[in-house]
Amino acid sequence: MHISSQFDSGNINVVRANSPEDILLTIPKDNQSDFAQWFHFRLMGETFVTHTMTITDLAKSAYPEGWKDYNVLASYDRETWFRVPSTFDGDNLTFSLTLEQPSVFFAYFIPYSYERHLDLIHHAQTSLFCEHRFLGLTLDGRDMSMLVIGEQTPEKKKVWITARQHPGETMAEWCAQGIIYRLLDEQDGLARQLLDNAVFYIVPNMNPDGSARGHLRTNAVGTNLNREWASPTAQKSPEVLYVLDAMADTGVDMYLDLHGDEALPYNFVAGTEGNPGYTADIEALENTFKQTLLTATPEFQDEFGYEKDAPGKANLTVASNAVGEKFSCMAYTVEMPFKDNANIPDNVNGWSAQRSQQLGEDLLIAVNAVVNKLK
Ligand SMILES: [Zn+2]
Repeated sequence: MHISSQFDSGNINVVRANSPEDILLTIPKDNQSDFAQWFHFRLMGETFVTHTMTITDLAKSAYPEGWKDYNVLASYDRETWFRVPSTFDGDNLTFSLTLEQPSVFFAYFIPYSYERHLDLIHHAQTSLFCEHRFLGLTLDGRDMSMLVIGEQTPEKKKVWITARQHPGETMAEWCAQGIIYRLLDEQDGLARQLLDNAVFYIVPNMNPDGSARGHLRTNAVGTNLNREWASPTAQKSPEVLYVLDAMADTGVDMYLDLHGDEALPYNFVAGTEGNPGYTADIEALENTFKQTLLTATPEFQDEFGYEKDAPGKANLTVASNAVGEKFSCMAYTVEMPFKDNANIPDNVNGWSAQRSQQLGEDLLIAVNAVVNKLK
């Protein structure tokens, strides 16, 4: 028996693995930080034998609530991922799998590798409507890339979308992929109307270093990028610096920042109601967005989510708040679940890569409604 994690976004520590029924694991922390939650490893074992794994010390993980009613993801072919029923006792997550093949991958959510990320932006750049821009280098020396979709003319609305500031929230990049491919579909009427009225600036991976390192929440040097938007620095958070500079060049009329939430089994949005510059006009656009998305898909709901900020009490280090305030625009944090959408649960897949992509396509229906109001 053998367990390894030396690959893109791999992350696990083996405490002991003496026999298939006694495998004990822990999750290493993100580099230079205290966050631990993302895991991704390969088990080579014996076919037709049941392997029982326990990940321990989870009371000290970043989101202990995230393990309640959570089921681990597994894959034999690294394309099709399925849920493995898991139990959580407050500190230990235990799950068993009878191997159908000698090697199986396990992960916290369906991985979105750096190679897949490069494939996405390079497929996209071959479209006539899409321009691929280099923003700068990360601290580990990876490229920060942005896609500009739609012909840029001054009268068009500028829609900004960022994903995966928190690298373990891979559903955010799956969702961005859904958005990008729908926009590039020349026979999609909604996409054509959108691109007549708007230009999209999309950063599908805000944190390529943390992604490749197998982090949940931080970049190469332990910075939580979604707390850097008030005063990013080249030393701690160049990723945010590049994007804020690019936003200052283009302007922003609407902003979505895509995330995953460890604990809540729902898709939801968090707005900028606590911003000093929040207005009735922004609230009206938020309502248009939410009402349109509620009609478009039962994957969205507006009952469960984060507590709303009191007026003037927004945390302006958070991307959506900072961008909404700086550009006086509608700005949402979009959250997807790690577990499932409890309103329409799926016991085999839970929340999945496919559902994340579909949500991305459906988000554009709500974006279109807002852009039509902004015209
Ligand atoms: Zn997040």
